[in-house]
Amino acid sequence: MIRTRFAPSPTGYLHIGGARTALYCWAYAKKHGGVFILRVEDTDRERSTEASVRAILDGMRWLDLDHDGPYFQMQRLARYRALADALIAAGHAYPCYATPEELDALRHEQRARNEKPRYDGRWRPENAKGKTPPAGVQPVIRFRNPDGGEVTWHDLVKGPITIANGELDDLVILRADGIPTYNFGVVVDDIDMQITHVIRGDDHVNNTPRQINIYRALGKPLPHFGHVPMILGADGERLSKRHGAVSVMQYFEDGFLPEALLNYLARLGWSHGDDEKFTREQLVQWFDLEHISRSPARFDLDKLKWLNQQYIRQADNARLAALAQPFLQRDGCDVARGAPLTDVVALLKERVSTIEELADAAVYFYRALEPSDALKHAHYSADIKPALLALREQLAGIEWNRAHIGACVKAVLGAFKIKMPQLAMPLRVMVTGETQTPSVDVTLELIGKDEVLARLDKQLRAFPA
Ligand code: GLU
Repeated sequence: MIRTRFAPSPTGYLHIGGARTALYCWAYAKKHGGVFILRVEDTDRERSTEASVRAILDGMRWLDLDHDGPYFQMQRLARYRALADALIAAGHAYPCYATPEELDALRHEQRARNEKPRYDGRWRPENAKGKTPPAGVQPVIRFRNPDGGEVTWHDLVKGPITIANGELDDLVILRADGIPTYNFGVVVDDIDMQITHVIRGDDHVNNTPRQINIYRALGKPLPHFGHVPMILGADGERLSKRHGAVSVMQYFEDGFLPEALLNYLARLGWSHGDDEKFTREQLVQWFDLEHISRSPARFDLDKLKWLNQQYIRQADNARLAALAQPFLQRDGCDVARGAPLTDVVALLKERVSTIEELADAAVYFYRALEPSDALKHAHYSADIKPALLALREQLAGIEWNRAHIGACVKAVLGAFKIKMPQLAMPLRVMVTGETQTPSVDVTLELIGKDEVLARLDKQLRAFPA
């Protein structure tokens, strides 16, 4: 039984790098009919927040990464204490009474001697003999790292990795307040939750040998480890706010569809031949760890937008309307009073790459947009005004539908011996404030007769005499 987990620390938003890790863990578990667990690593009391927990849960829900849990580390303190005690009893851990000042001084001396700063084992039992623990100091618990030999694992992404134990010192596993450090909490939980595959960002590679030593000291079998390269920005630096949105929910707010972001993140760092667009089901079917890239991927917003556009095109109009509505409301549009939004989005969805763009393009269906002076200057001429006045009169007399509107336009073109663009461009600008719109008959039909006539009347007054 495959069991994977995503273990974010709730100290900010759900980062898209984290979401990608979660996605890989989720897809791997799903593919093998296994279990995917969400574990919130909330042991950093200063930086963990409720808002961040909510942001993580919202992001997971939006991307529809269904999971067991969430489990919270702060609810498991007794368990960490019990296993720390067991390690002490077995001689694999010990209390350390060194004060922060003392450790600072130690680091200072080591640096002065050009040595790598590391704990010197001063409270290892053999060195502590005869020392009395200082009164009133609550000790931390340190893991007694093996002195010699090395740690090797076959990383599922990076291949074999070996680290000499001489590189590792005795790390703190339990703080004086009884809260575990990351490296201990993660091992205890991965053991208790029977995780078979630890898939995470490669910023944790250096922690893995320490964790492996703790598994061994606890006499537990190792899971498989796979470390996924980071996501970089276009400039090759690690992706951060500087590069644009990095929070998953920001993509929701910017009008992306979750299936597009999911598809994009899956493909960013993993491949299935040349396939760029695939469904969740295909991802689950195809996903494997062999095709996770060993080199970091670069985030490419244009490609994400391209995918989003593909998904918008195929999305259900009612769904798109529901998604676009809040954007329009924020933009001062009363959607209930204008054309059915489903009809409007059907007309516009081929032309946009986000829901935000879709809503922007839909605004003139719900309220008049004043054309810019430049557009008026370019399209409002005295020459064309008589044709537009004639069109206005014809439109006023018809039963309102696209066929009749089209017939009026044709009649005016014939009567004034002019070509379509000569009439249609100023007409568009007058009614929509823009030059790029879907075909004019459908656009006018949806905006509605009274509204079109009112806009024409107002704009005709802006024409030169
Ligand atoms: N809480 C750690 C993080 O957010 C988890 C790393 C891991 O998956 O082991 O980086």
